Amino acid sequence: MNAGDRTDGTPNQSVVLQSKKKVDLGAEAAAIIKTTLGRLGEGYKAEVDARRHIVYVSAVDAKAFSRVMRLLAAHYDAQQQLLFTEPVRRNVTVILPTLQDYRKLVPNAKVHGIYSKRNRMLVSISFSNVLIHEFIHALHHNDQISMNQEHPTWIVEGLAMLFQGSRVKNGKLEILTHAGLSVIQEALKKEKAHSLAHLCAMTPRAFMRDARLCYSQARYVMLYLHRLGKLRRFYETYKFSYAVDRTGIKALVDTLGKPLEEIEVIRGGRTTVIKQLLGLMGKHRPKLSES
Ligand SMILES: [Zn+2]
Repeated sequence: MNAGDRTDGTPNQSVVLQSKKKVDLGAEAAAIIKTTLGRLGEGYKAEVDARRHIVYVSAVDAKAFSRVMRLLAAHYDAQQQLLFTEPVRRNVTVILPTLQDYRKLVPNAKVHGIYSKRNRMLVSISFSNVLIHEFIHALHHNDQISMNQEHPTWIVEGLAMLFQGSRVKNGKLEILTHAGLSVIQEALKKEKAHSLAHLCAMTPRAFMRDARLCYSQARYVMLYLHRLGKLRRFYETYKFSYAVDRTGIKALVDTLGKPLEEIEVIRGGRTTVIKQLLGLMGKHRPKLSES
């Protein structure tokens, strides 16, 4: 599970309505800086990545600040090639606050980053995984708005979880970690893992009620697609068939070219996505104890 992440539940529709207005992104960035610096007070600096339309407001030291800017720029550029190919249509604001200011915003000590759809604002005390996770939410949100769609939690969190454990090398994304596997294996042993059909159809509330397991299962379905080289095809198929099926089941069936019963994760001793994934990973198979 990604304990360090929260997104708000604002429906996309409100932002869709806003996005129909013609927006001067340079003027918008200047206004965001003025308001945010005014609110946060002394000790904050602002930078704009004008090409990618990312506004940064930071209280961290200059070295960490520029590292974060380079990191997010690299992920933005990589995603432009890979999955979220739509350019950002409104500025994304990234705030790197002091710990004290962050705690005023987010009292829950387990949450290291948040993304708010309402104002496209990311606030993070993480400079790595959680920061990337929230940034992926921002890019994915932009993509959904451009399609006038609202994707289910398993796709939103599955993609953020997949890419949070990645790095960009020579312009290409490499998926690095195998976090969360032990959670799934434990659930499999106890026969508590969710079937794929159930996972895909879950409400956000139900997903979050069993967050630790659901985040991991969603991530592994995305990792499975990625290892097959079919993640983009799945995502494009999903967006194309959104009007027919919002759960993503049809897109999985169409992408993998077999019925759901053959893809199905995880009941008893049946062939599972996880088992198939472990087979695909070959010598890079993670240890059973890895989490
Ligand atoms: Zn998330």
